[in-house]
Amino acid sequence: MAKQSKKLSFEFFPTRTPEGRAKQVVTRKQLRQFDPEFFSCTSGAGGSTRDGTMQAITDILSEGTAAAPHLPCIGMQRQEIVDLLEEYKSMGVRHIVALRGDIPSGMGMGSGSLHYANELVELIKTEFGSHFHIEIAAYPEFHPQARSAEDDLNNFVRKAKAGADSAITQYFFNADAYFRFVDDVHARGINIPIIPGIMPVASFSKLARFSDTCGAEIPRWLRLKLQSYADDSTAIKAFALDVVTEMCERLLREGAPSLHFYTLNQAGLVSTICQRLGY
Ligand code: FAD
Repeated sequence: MAKQSKKLSFEFFPTRTPEGRAKQVVTRKQLRQFDPEFFSCTSGAGGSTRDGTMQAITDILSEGTAAAPHLPCIGMQRQEIVDLLEEYKSMGVRHIVALRGDIPSGMGMGSGSLHYANELVELIKTEFGSHFHIEIAAYPEFHPQARSAEDDLNNFVRKAKAGADSAITQYFFNADAYFRFVDDVHARGINIPIIPGIMPVASFSKLARFSDTCGAEIPRWLRLKLQSYADDSTAIKAFALDVVTEMCERLLREGAPSLHFYTLNQAGLVSTICQRLGY
């Protein structure tokens, strides 16, 4: 495998305990060998994990890597968003993942100032010009709440035109869906980089649960193969490593600009995939 030159980025979720924080420092140290463009940290909608996200971003910056906080706008007031962005700016953050966010049960769409991610992108551009590199979310298999595929594509185009610099996709196991999405978006005049989000697989049941809620499809052949290993987690990991690595190889070979890994706060599987890819 030839050495890869395309950049990588890695996503974490905030931890709640000092032990979790210490473990994340070690995980990031392991992943830093791949010279990531940035580490990102998710954030719960409605500010539910704001302290944890802030802590992770502070840690990442102090370790000398670029940090990208996720900012889900649903449930937040406009001024709260501006204040948070001011704080990130003063810390030295140059990269934001701008999202609507998953609406927590019981929180209606109407409780904050903004309703969709395109409005957040507009706000960031209006208030901060080009200070932040703005990432947006993309859904090659379409967002589960979209009225139709066409509608979702049009919404993505509107969000990109609002001023996004690049996009990170929901994870997928069907590279054709990604390439089709990129073609459809190009045909609508949008040429920002669309970075595949890659999910390593350690457990079938967890993956199935997660995929049901976020609308990512596990193809039938993959589902049946993973199910056939039952509780044999070694076999599941070995098989899924092959499948995901082969998909990443194809994505890079056929034009994906870089890869973004959903690490689930673990370095093991992600590191193996990156090494196999030639990083
Ligand atoms: P939007 O782009 O606003 O789209 C949401 C839905 O509304 C779509 O169905 C879209 O078609 C439709 N829509 C968009 N604009 C309009 C409009 N103007 N009028 C009518 N309909 C419209 N969630 C979190 O809570 N925290 C995170 O940290 C987080 N990180 C993520 C990172 C990545 C890379 C990805 C892919 C997702 C992440 N999510 C996160 C999940 C994401 O917040 C959810 O999928 C959420 O439901 C949609 O967010 P969005 O920014 O894509 O929304």
